[in-house]
Amino acid sequence: MRQGTAVAGFALTEPDVGSDAAAIQLRARPCAAGWTLHGHKKWITNAPDADFYVTFRAHDRDARSRGVTTAFLVPADRPGLSGVPIEFIADHPIGALTFDGVPVDRSDVIARSTEGSSRR
Ligand SMILES: Cc1cc2nc3c(=O)[nH]c(=O)nc-3n(C[C@H](O)[C@H](O)[C@H](O)COP(=O)(O)OP(=O)(O)OC[C@H]3O[C@@H](n4cnc5c(N)ncnc54)[C@H](O)[C@@H]3O)c2cc1C
Repeated sequence: MRQGTAVAGFALTEPDVGSDAAAIQLRARPCAAGWTLHGHKKWITNAPDADFYVTFRAHDRDARSRGVTTAFLVPADRPGLSGVPIEFIADHPIGALTFDGVPVDRSDVIARSTEGSSRR
């Protein structure tokens, strides 16, 4: 990104989840290699053209924001990840993403809940 050769997307918002980000529903199901991601994202700047997306899993919906435990960096060409553009007046692409069993492993984890603390 810093070299200007890759475009990122930040995929938090979902079709039914906007301001109340603690309610996200994207799930990471454990599998032998790590997890598979399942869910939908909408209104994502640079989707579906980005080279990779940062997204988040909700581990425990009842725990609200404390249940959003992991951030993943997912390359756009990962199997099971698809996107469509949304027609919108904006100076950048905007679209929706579907995570249909997208495989991720520990090397795709960029942050866990304990790593975003208020330490200075
Ligand atoms: C051009 C554009 C680009 C975007 N890019 C991205 C992106 O790159 N990645 C991404 O993840 N999302 C993106 N979004 C989505 C954006 O972050 C959401 O639209 C935003 O989180 C608000 O969600 P919502 O539209 O569902 O509105 P809602 O959450 O339904 O809110 C509707 C209205 O109610 C108000 N409101 C909500 N809750 C409360 C409350 N508790 N008290 C008082 N008022 C409240 C809000 O301020 C707002 O005015 C983008 C949206 C747009 C328009």
